Amino acid sequence: DMPTVAIVGRPNVGKSTLFNRLVGKKLALVDDRPGVTRDRREGDVNFGGLVFRIIDTAGLEEADPGSLIGRMRAQTEAAILEADVVLFVIDARAGILPADQPFADMVRRAGCPVILIANKAEGGAGMAGAYESFSLGLGDPIPFSAEHGEGIGELHDALIENL
Ligand code: GDP
Ligand code: MG
Repeated sequence: DMPTVAIVGRPNVGKSTLFNRLVGKKLALVDDRPGVTRDRREGDVNFGGLVFRIIDTAGLEEADPGSLIGRMRAQTEAAILEADVVLFVIDARAGILPADQPFADMVRRAGCPVILIANKAEGGAGMAGAYESFSLGLGDPIPFSAEHGEGIGELHDALIENL
């Protein structure tokens, strides 16, 4: 069976952009409006000879803000349970926000291998945010840009080590 990789993190950090880059098609909706309804997406990836199934998490439901956190949590927990490796994404430009913590807690509790991705770090941006992300206790961050493809070699190396 193909191993499974789940992309996890708070909204707007660039999970769907990373998913699209790895799958190579625009299967996941990228949108910076919070609360836009987005389904969980899955795709098959051949990333330089590494073959795996990838899950993008989102699950925002505009209609029912009361259950937003619960829905996001449930969807993320289900994806983590299926995952052999989690790609935990933060926005290195924004730094670590309180909203990152519940997602990081879920990943730490699950105890599965995790690769920490400090996204939006193109051109050396977001170094302070990348350093802050050590505090999540999820290991060393890979400075990354899902939009521009920076860090893709380091991500490939990390997946080889963890898959
Ligand atoms: P998600 O909610 O975590 O799935 O995030 P999206 O993939 O929908 O991206 C949220 C916003 O961040 C969009 O406006 C993207 O264009 C932007 N974004 C994603 N990746 C990058 C990146 O590497 N660099 C920069 N500067 N912006 C990015
Ligand atoms: Mg998304």
